[in-house]
Amino acid sequence: MKKKLQNLNRRDFLKKSTQTTAALLSLSGCTGLNSYFKADRTEFDKEVFIIGAGAAGLMAAHTLKKNRIPFRLFEASSRPGGRLYSVQADDSTALELGAEFFEAHQKIVFELLKEFQIDWTEQLVDLTVRPLWQSSAQEILSEIEYQKLSQAFINRFLSDRIKIFGSSENYQVLSPALAKELDNLSFHDYLQTHWINPDDRVLRYWDVQNRTQFSSDSKSISTLQVLWHQPKDQKLKSLFRVQGGWSQLVRRMYERVAGVIPNHLVKMNWSLQSLNATRDGFRCLFKNPEGIQTLYAKNIILATPMNQLKKISGVMSLEISQSKKDRIQSARLGESSKAFALIHNQPVQNLQVPALWYQDQTQYQFLKGENRSWLGGLRGGELTQWSLPDMENWKASFIDRFNLDQTMVAKSLDYHVMNWKDQIHIQGARSQWEPGSWLSGSMLFDSSDYGGRLQWAGEYAYSNEKGTVSSALESGKKAAEGLIGLLDKVV
Ligand SMILES: Cc1cc2nc3c(=O)[nH]c(=O)nc-3n(C[C@H](O)[C@H](O)[C@H](O)COP(=O)(O)OP(=O)(O)OC[C@H]3O[C@@H](n4cnc5c(N)ncnc54)[C@H](O)[C@@H]3O)c2cc1C
Repeated sequence: MKKKLQNLNRRDFLKKSTQTTAALLSLSGCTGLNSYFKADRTEFDKEVFIIGAGAAGLMAAHTLKKNRIPFRLFEASSRPGGRLYSVQADDSTALELGAEFFEAHQKIVFELLKEFQIDWTEQLVDLTVRPLWQSSAQEILSEIEYQKLSQAFINRFLSDRIKIFGSSENYQVLSPALAKELDNLSFHDYLQTHWINPDDRVLRYWDVQNRTQFSSDSKSISTLQVLWHQPKDQKLKSLFRVQGGWSQLVRRMYERVAGVIPNHLVKMNWSLQSLNATRDGFRCLFKNPEGIQTLYAKNIILATPMNQLKKISGVMSLEISQSKKDRIQSARLGESSKAFALIHNQPVQNLQVPALWYQDQTQYQFLKGENRSWLGGLRGGELTQWSLPDMENWKASFIDRFNLDQTMVAKSLDYHVMNWKDQIHIQGARSQWEPGSWLSGSMLFDSSDYGGRLQWAGEYAYSNEKGTVSSALESGKKAAEGLIGLLDKVV
């Protein structure tokens, strides 16, 4: 068997392998096969290492696979998906403990879902005006009050948005001078500058909005980032959810890219510890459950979160621009945590609850599944941890606020919590763009290094949009395409 394998090149071997998958699965651990692959250096020039199996890394692998470019995908943790993480509640309801929504202009998401035959649902929400409630369930800022207090400011805000980004969905900066001015201004200062004596409750409202949406408070966020995410008018905005959860897409992509030989193309629990440029490529030192292993790659796609790059020794000594190094050095992800509690073992009917709303420091949502009803809460900024009493309290205040029949309430406190700061290979939720960094940082990682052999991917590395699943997917696709163009020339 060993002799026969050595006479095949790897592509022929893989072709044959699809006919004998079952036999190969049992062979995958055998020494003969391992040494066959170790000895196979013929594809060194073409092979791509992808580091990180979040949305960006999976998309890069998927794109390379379609173009028959050999790759290996390394993931530090024991599950693919990164910040995409859904829990199947019971029926078709997925509780999203990480990313949740996507938007109408994010074409790449729709295309992928169609490709993998996964459905989506649409929800209409008013993103500009949402009421704020106290824990006592007493409304402290109604929609009408908010409108009255802030109409002049909202008009100014929307007109700045139109001036900078226009009214189309292409998100190109049309007015660089104004964009620069507003990028340098924290959102807190913008509110103070353009709004004489802003009402305290409205300031709090925006603070909570920024904490939950961007994991930053208003003082540490660039006005441009907030502006960019605002709908261009005050109409209702459609938000979309993946039916069955993002993890379903992750699973399908993972299965597609992993191939037929387990643990060959996708290596879980392999964390990149150091990266050094060599004469003809990169030396990569990985930590895996068996110890430390050094592998060499000619081409590499770094698809880890930006804040993890400085933990990989050697990255700061690579021949990359000083501005990239500065950005890597200062990169951090804002904190965020999510929790879901079971409200009722039946779907709660006829309940008039807004799609999303704020209370204290938390953004809430109510999810009615086929068999059960859930209350979800997203917290951002420093106040991120959830405790059991917390969850009991917000469940009680929800029941109170919406006059829910006590007999309908689920007795057990069935809940799911995720605090993103505790995920050691991610350590946070969303990329933070402090005042002054949004514009300069936006183009930075679009460009590759080492003649195109080192590509950057991840939600931060796509200049048209940042901090979303869509931008992560786009960045992975772009990084892979950059290498495909280059590798096509390699004979
Ligand atoms: C609570 C929350 C809510 C969000 N809501 C939304 C939303 O509604 N809509 C939206 O579009 N976006 C949302 N986002 C943002 C979205 O989840 C991210 O932008 C996107 O998933 C990031 O994908 P990525 O591939 O760039 O990074 P990640 O998903 O972080 O993937 C990076 C991977 O790299 C791995 N890794 C790290 N270091 C190493 C190493 N040294 N070696 C090997 N592997 C390594 C990590 O384990 C991880 O799996 C939300 C995020 C959070 C946390």
